[in-house]
Order: sequence, then structure tokens, then C-alpha cells
Amino acid sequence: MNSKLKVLGSVSPYCKNGNNCPGYLFENGFNKILLDCGPGISSLLNMPEDLNNLTIVISHLHKDHYADLFSLGYASFCYHRLGMLNEKVKVYIPEVLPSEDGYEDYLMIKNLKEQYFDIVTYNEHSKINVDENTCINFLKTQHSLANFSAKIVSFGDTIVYTGDMGFSDIDKFISFSFCASLLISESTYLEKDNVHDPYHLHAKEAARLALLANVDTLMLTHFWPEHNKFEYLEEACSIFSNTIVANEGLMLDMKLLSNSKGGVSK
Ligand SMILES: [Zn+2]
Ligand SMILES: [Zn+2]
Repeated sequence: MNSKLKVLGSVSPYCKNGNNCPGYLFENGFNKILLDCGPGISSLLNMPEDLNNLTIVISHLHKDHYADLFSLGYASFCYHRLGMLNEKVKVYIPEVLPSEDGYEDYLMIKNLKEQYFDIVTYNEHSKINVDENTCINFLKTQHSLANFSAKIVSFGDTIVYTGDMGFSDIDKFISFSFCASLLISESTYLEKDNVHDPYHLHAKEAARLALLANVDTLMLTHFWPEHNKFEYLEEACSIFSNTIVANEGLMLDMKLLSNSKGGVSK
């Protein structure tokens, strides 16, 4: 099975110069999984085809990771009304309790009208069986509100996406992502930023995770929109050489990736 992953967004917290906020579309030939749904990503989807057999997983309820759910919700409503979408889009969002941060965002999504979604909540113990050869597991990580790293296992490929996370509890993360074919890691900062943020990673920290977890390929993402992506690549490559950067429209062929360690099809 020739699975692919398309980058739809790579910057945060706002779009800039054709760069969207986070979103990664995995396809295994039967089903599609969209990891995060940040502002601008719907512009790179093929409509309405990409809404068919689509499962959306939101890592956490910061707006840079879910705001385009509103665009896709209304798009699904319109295409359903036109008879061009006959199965609801499955949308998984983290469960948030009234006492927790993000509850207003949670309610806003849960109460969304004019959509053709099946909205389901998940937690760290959830396992989503997308089809008989594809499942998604989760790991809660350190962030300013509940964030869940996602692991897709499909036809022998393993893709781990950090969502947003700090460089703590990495032992758990290392076992969660161990020997993954592809680690998609946030790398919000550069060394020169000189920022100590317990809720986000530097490029070198992302590279350290990749090294410790012995993954095949590291793809950096969640860049600060005012920074040059090349600087992130340089910093990360000093620790983990098989690193690439997320660029909008980049298509990764999972087979090439595992055969050639880092092969990019387009
Ligand atoms: Zn966040
Ligand atoms: Zn973010």
C-alpha cells in the first residue's frame, strides 16, 4: 500500500505568505486522516473528494490547530446538501471538562451548526480504528492546555505527530514514538530566540527527540512565521541529519521515506 502524507500548513500562530497553520493529510488509498485543521489549510484540499472517507483529529483546542474546522464544517454541509457528500466527516476532539482551559472552544465546536460532521471526543486512552489496517493512539503531553500527540499505524508505516508540547516527560514520548517511520514535530523556536517555554520545542529539542526515538525521518513544523525555515533545518541537522522541513503542498511518499530514509516524491 502506497501511503502518502501531504503538508497543508507549517506555521503558527498565524498564516503568512502562503504558509498556513498546522494541518497534515495522511492517505492510505482507502481512508484519509487529517491531523489538525489550522487556519488556511482548507485552501490546499481537493474538494469535495477530500471530505470523503475523512477522519479529522485535533491535537488540542488552540485556534491555530482547529480554526479551519469552521470552513470545513460549512463546506461539508454545502456538499451534503448538493448530494456530493453522503457520509459524515468524522471529527475527533479532545475531551475538555468545564473546569479546564479550552472549555469554551470545546463547546463552540460541539455546538457547531450547519455542518455534516460526526463529532466525537477522545482522551489519552482512546484508540481510533480508522479501518482494519489503520489505527490511531494518543499520548498526553506537556502544553498550556491538554494536547495529545497522535500515532498513526497503517500498513506497516508509523507516523507520530507531536501537536504542541514542551521538552518534558520525554521518556514517555520516546517510547510512544520509538522507531516511527516519520516524526512530525513542532519546533516553534530557534536557539537565537533564547526562549525558555515549557510548552513548546526548539528545533534542537525536536532533533533530540528524533535521535532518542530512533525514527527514520524527522519533519519539523509549527515555525514562527517571521523566521526562515532554513535556520530551523540547520539547527536540527546538527543533531539529527535526516531532517526535512514542512512546506505547504509537500507530498511525502511513505514507501520512499522508509526505503531511502527521507525520500520526497514532490
Ligand atoms: Zn498550542
Ligand atoms: Zn500551536
